[in-house]
Amino acid sequence: MNAIIFGAPGAGKGTYSTRMQNQLGVDVIAMGDIFRESVKQNTELGKKVKSYVEKGALVPDAVVVEVLKDRLSKVPKGKGFLLDGFPRTVDQADTLEKIAKIDVILQLDVPDKIIIERLTSRRLCKNCGAVYNIRFLKPKKEGVCDKCSGPLYQRADDNEEVIKNRLQVYKTQTEPLIAYYKKKKMPFIVNVTKTIDQPPEPMVEHMMAELKKLKLA
Ligand SMILES: [Zn+2]
Repeated sequence: MNAIIFGAPGAGKGTYSTRMQNQLGVDVIAMGDIFRESVKQNTELGKKVKSYVEKGALVPDAVVVEVLKDRLSKVPKGKGFLLDGFPRTVDQADTLEKIAKIDVILQLDVPDKIIIERLTSRRLCKNCGAVYNIRFLKPKKEGVCDKCSGPLYQRADDNEEVIKNRLQVYKTQTEPLIAYYKKKKMPFIVNVTKTIDQPPEPMVEHMMAELKKLKLA
């Protein structure tokens, strides 16, 4: 199964990707992670990416596509992939069509209000990076990491203003892509979170059941 996953920041793409990886054995290809990792390791690609980011420019499509092709060539034969963070534009979607066959789009539809609640209640450990949520995943002692007793903090960009802006950017970017794939009659599996936040398990099960119906799982 080759899939693309769409979901706003905070919609839970990471959680779903991990579950899909475990249950279906697909390779998760998260473009953002590949770029961050290459910059950290200062590879040839990392140097290129850094030069654009430092100028405040977007990494050009040609570079992004080069990275994607390279990564796709490493997907073991017979194994599918789950693509996260690509395509971001209709042009990129056209390019993708030439280099890989996509079977299905997974879409996580979470109301803004819930995403804002999730992200503003996120806390991280300064020491070990463990992630907590003061609503759902509280540390045993307030403000203190369970694992290493380090102090917990809130990321500066986990505030309502910044999150709203990120959600707007996501919508502007993704709507044309959704329309593009609908027009191509690509199968969609949409997971809708209603007005109350839910744990991921029933949603993952729903997604698996839908994939089975499409004979992709
Ligand atoms: Zn810690």
